[in-house]
Amino acid sequence: MNAIFERHRTQADRYLERFRLAPLRHFIAGRPTDSADGRVFVNATPIDNSHLGEVALGGAHDVDSAANSAAAAFETWRLTRGDERKAIMHRIADAIVARSEEIALVESVDTGQPIRYMAKAALRGAENFRFFGDRAPSARDGVSLPTDDHLNYTVRQPIGPIAVITPWNTPFMLSTWKIAPALSAGCTVVHKPAEWSPLTASLLAEICHGAGLPAGVLNTIHGTGELTGKLLTEHPAMKAIAFVGESKTGSQIMIQGAPSLKRLHAELGGKNPVIVFADADLDRALDAVVFMIYSLNGERCTSSSRVLVEESIYAEFCAAVSARAAALTIGHPLDPEVEIGPLIHQRHLEKVQAYFAIAEQEGATMATGGPSWEGGGSGNYVRPTLFTHATPSMRIANEEIFGPVLTAIPFVDEAEALAIANRTDYGLAAYLWTQDIGRGHRLARDLDAGMVWVNSENNRHLAAPFGGMKASGIGRDGGDYSFDFYMETKNICIALDTHKIPRIG
Ligand code: NAD
Repeated sequence: MNAIFERHRTQADRYLERFRLAPLRHFIAGRPTDSADGRVFVNATPIDNSHLGEVALGGAHDVDSAANSAAAAFETWRLTRGDERKAIMHRIADAIVARSEEIALVESVDTGQPIRYMAKAALRGAENFRFFGDRAPSARDGVSLPTDDHLNYTVRQPIGPIAVITPWNTPFMLSTWKIAPALSAGCTVVHKPAEWSPLTASLLAEICHGAGLPAGVLNTIHGTGELTGKLLTEHPAMKAIAFVGESKTGSQIMIQGAPSLKRLHAELGGKNPVIVFADADLDRALDAVVFMIYSLNGERCTSSSRVLVEESIYAEFCAAVSARAAALTIGHPLDPEVEIGPLIHQRHLEKVQAYFAIAEQEGATMATGGPSWEGGGSGNYVRPTLFTHATPSMRIANEEIFGPVLTAIPFVDEAEALAIANRTDYGLAAYLWTQDIGRGHRLARDLDAGMVWVNSENNRHLAAPFGGMKASGIGRDGGDYSFDFYMETKNICIALDTHKIPRIG
């Protein structure tokens, strides 16, 4: 064991001790709170499936308290000056940076994500608070739309308390991506983190409160989606739902929110193509392809899980991907050398493993990888895998596996590459490797994806719109797009007293 790994384990044990000693509580109206009926659920680490502790299970009374707390706090928070909100967002960012090691280590053990990625994810969470906080003072600004007889102008105002529901992959970063713009806009929040990775959500609530966020502005409620999440999406005090998760859950949440006409922003699943043409810079393409499927254990919405390779280089390129996948370091996520950790939960492991049998039945070839890893003990490990000789209609070419599993499909020309890329139900991201500028622009225009990267891996600019088409989502995050979701646009029309008002009666 190397010295840094050793230190990580010691430190992680120290940070995790509190979760073992007492159940993790909700955070409602500025205070850690047990469930009214005392119910809890057990949280385990995917490293060996040992228990990390108990977590409060939110029921109707708890959801009601959290929602009412957010509604009460909204009356003051929505009127708080933009520069005051900005100052608080910056203090939160500073506090996240100060506790970034703790966040990264706890999240790594809770999710199985390698520490090499989690350290950056914690800091990106801080960056989200800074970026949206800086825009808090101007978020209400509108536009001037004059006519000959009237002056129309718009202003934006926060929509109200928001239900933020997040998944278990990079949970800390993803929740800040929603919570930071909501708070900066003047909304209050009830956050329900995923039940398989609840720990860092409570750290975030604690950090925000410690940094001076008033009580009730951010409430965190733990529990399952079917119970706690459902109650939250149905609660009348919640005015909008910001959801990140699976497509079928998004659809269910639309139904749950429909009776109370909730605004919904849904960031859902993906089966993102990366198209590699023979004329591409193949060394850079190889690095990007390998990184975008095997980093974060492949549990990433924007992972490039289908690689479409021009026929003339298919064998050579697949052999190179296969060699790199086989060379990845699998192991304990707190080891800084490790590139592939265990999958989040045994149920998810079983789902991913089922695709190995499906691939075999469908006639694909497993070029490298496997459904288990001999060094994994009782942890949820699969080996980084490449399936070759896949056809576009196979399930492994259409369904989101959400693990370190890549499906390689050959194509003969641009038209076929486009047709294969667009044939899935999803439309989140697409990646494209070619040196032909015209082809790059043509395909970027024609691909059914909310985000297209040309000659690049997923590279995020916080002001740019993030989101998907088709079954991958509704709405966009990022920059002003986020404020459009968390705020109502109001038009105000003032007469210049020059127009004729119809006189009747
Ligand atoms: P999931 O849909 O199972 O759960 C997400 C959250 O929804 C959890 O907090 C869960 O408790 C809650 N939930 C489940 N059922 C609910 C219900 N009926 N009502 C209210 N809440 C409910 O997703 P997951 O397995 O946690 O996450 C993986 C999925 O998330 C993948 O499909 C992935 O692509 C997607 N994802 C998308 C993005 C994006 O930006 N598009 C980002 C990350 C993850």
